[in-house]
Amino acid sequence: MTSDAFAKEALAKTLFGAHKLPAAAEARTYGFYSKGCFAGGVAIATDGPTWQAMRLSRNRRWGHPTMIKLVERLSQEAVADGWPGLLVGDISQPRGGPMTSGHASHQVGLDADIWLTPMPKRTLTRSERENISAVSMLKKNSLYVDDSIWTSSRARLLQRAASYPEVERIFVHPGIKKKLCDTVKGDRSWLRKIRPQYGHDYHFHIRIGCQPGSSGCKDQDPAPNDDGCGKPLAWWFTEEPWRPAKPGTKPKPPARDVMTMANLPKACVGVLKAPDPASEEAVTIYAPGKRVVAAPAVVEVQEEPVELAPVDVPIPKVNVPVPTPRP
Ligand SMILES: [Zn+2]
Repeated sequence: MTSDAFAKEALAKTLFGAHKLPAAAEARTYGFYSKGCFAGGVAIATDGPTWQAMRLSRNRRWGHPTMIKLVERLSQEAVADGWPGLLVGDISQPRGGPMTSGHASHQVGLDADIWLTPMPKRTLTRSERENISAVSMLKKNSLYVDDSIWTSSRARLLQRAASYPEVERIFVHPGIKKKLCDTVKGDRSWLRKIRPQYGHDYHFHIRIGCQPGSSGCKDQDPAPNDDGCGKPLAWWFTEEPWRPAKPGTKPKPPARDVMTMANLPKACVGVLKAPDPASEEAVTIYAPGKRVVAAPAVVEVQEEPVELAPVDVPIPKVNVPVPTPRP
């Protein structure tokens, strides 16, 4: 069987999930948030002065360089605002594509999940990063925020994230959107970017727009031009969006479980076939003056020797180092 035939039949999530490293190429996004892939991805370091990445075993710390820089910037500015630091959830797989589990989107390196749980003062172990649960902002069995959990610092964090021009949408649970609609005073223009969505009660989801140089990237429709606190939000508090499926109706499988390469932009085959960069370190964005290697392993995981990151390593742009081809 030729590799092309293989690519036609295999599930895209299996092919993309198998890559541990990004496609060594210029940063380019192909397709749409829920149907695409990307080349030239970079990773956020597992640890920075103002963030810690979670669920390291999933290897979803990858994104378009603009996305990764934005998360680092948000972490710094959030700390300046008084938030203790970010716990970073899923961004994308190294080459994007449909994921082996979870999310429908996050396929093009332009989506990132940030926990609404503040970063603790100490460095979490690898095992804690796998197992700690995020805290829901909602009252039990309710669509409304629990006021004993919700804080204005979280609203401030969302406002900061919405302040960047690159950020087009931020998804939160309708209960969180409602809380903001009911409480934000003064400048409310940023509420336009805060969009209600299922889930997202323990994390929020930042989505940036297509980046320059990615002509194959498909834009989403711009968010409506008001604060979104009126009718569309009220709909979420009716029975309709939560109505259970009629008994006997077969649920459709999630798209990620049926997508093949034929469903994705043609360029994604090239993204799969592109060479790896020389190493993960070569394409990891380093926090200035901070170690980049993950938290000490608890038991089984043997770490490579730890090296101090050089200060202010520039982000790899075009000439991502590629290993010399094997004979
Ligand atoms: Zn998300």
